[in-house]
Amino acid sequence: DPRLQAISNAIRVVPHFPKQGIMFQDITTLLLDHKAFKHTVDIFVDRYKDMDISVVAGVEARGFMFGPSIALAIGAKFVPLRKPKKLPGEVIAEAYELEYGRDCLEMHVGAVEAGERAIVIDDLVATGGTLSAAIRLLERVGAQVVECGCVIGLREVKGQLRLNGKPLYILVEPR
Ligand code: 5GP
Repeated sequence: DPRLQAISNAIRVVPHFPKQGIMFQDITTLLLDHKAFKHTVDIFVDRYKDMDISVVAGVEARGFMFGPSIALAIGAKFVPLRKPKKLPGEVIAEAYELEYGRDCLEMHVGAVEAGERAIVIDDLVATGGTLSAAIRLLERVGAQVVECGCVIGLREVKGQLRLNGKPLYILVEPR
């Protein structure tokens, strides 16, 4: 698919951000490139439009930049999975391990019903810890997580192992 090269080309690599040694994959330049941004959304939409998906869950913050466009196009609801203390209503929470320390994702109670078919969207998967927490949130309320979709991922995603057996769909590898 020639669109994948355009997507990859639009991602900027920022060395040593946010700290020494990290090659940060910056998707804000992808958002500046209308064609590449549209290709990104279109590929996910083509994949998910006929899979009877009623929930697109987006991971804060960069999952919010792709998830809502996908949800609108496939006729699903968008559910934000947020960092602690951001959602005003009653929430359930799942912690996950980071390189240093832990973090947590929260979801509003009542946003997703038992039996709904969901996908989880984020910009990048590294260890898969974040997506695993997202999957646990959705499964706790009885939803079926059909797949996780990310713009960027390592081919040999170690994350696969931690995704609770859920398929992972990745568009491009890190640059
Ligand atoms: P994981 O939990 O899979 O180890 O890390 C994935 C999370 O870290 C995602 O929410 C992603 O947004 C963020 N992340 C880690 N490194 C990068 C990076 O280089 N670029 C971007 N855009 N996000 C990153």
